[in-house]
Amino acid sequence: MLLKFYGKGRPYRLFAAGMHGGEWKDTSSLLMKLQPPLSGSLFLFPLVDRGRYLSTLQEGYYKGPGSKIPVFVNNCAPEIYIEIHSYSKQNFHKLAGRDRISRTGVPPYSVLEEGLLLGSVSPHIRLHFPKEALCLSLEVQRDNPASYELALHMLARMKECKGRDDFIAFLKKKYPSAALKAIEDYKKFYGL
Ligand SMILES: [Zn+2]
Repeated sequence: MLLKFYGKGRPYRLFAAGMHGGEWKDTSSLLMKLQPPLSGSLFLFPLVDRGRYLSTLQEGYYKGPGSKIPVFVNNCAPEIYIEIHSYSKQNFHKLAGRDRISRTGVPPYSVLEEGLLLGSVSPHIRLHFPKEALCLSLEVQRDNPASYELALHMLARMKECKGRDDFIAFLKKKYPSAALKAIEDYKKFYGL
């Protein structure tokens, strides 16, 4: 399925999963389980690409296998954009380690609970959004049912979000340290 659509009017929320390689096996069904939002719209790309794995940090990703995302963003200007990825436990430190910024140029993910990670999206897609948009990436820990359950819970909350400030208020209440870090990253990158 290319694009699934629920609801009516703003805000527009775009969630994308199955970003590359075999990640669709872990992430596509999360989007298929979501109910329509109470207000505003929800657009879903449950399977962006399942070809050869190409990192979203590579410039070619959003020009090649992921090109439908910037096309949608440029045409529809969603206020909220969420990517869902999956990782195996042995790569935890690659994603959440402090040295991620020096290795990859992007800040490390914040750890929520159950191995679920929250972080920024690639700069190559972020540049298609205005500063005030909410753009986040979730990394679900493969083979960890509790991680999937929490991801589903977070997505169910995110699909009701009115915008960036609404989500940050929720995050501050539930995960104060992750919120603090997410805000810091935003400031560093986008001058919030
Ligand atoms: Zn991924």
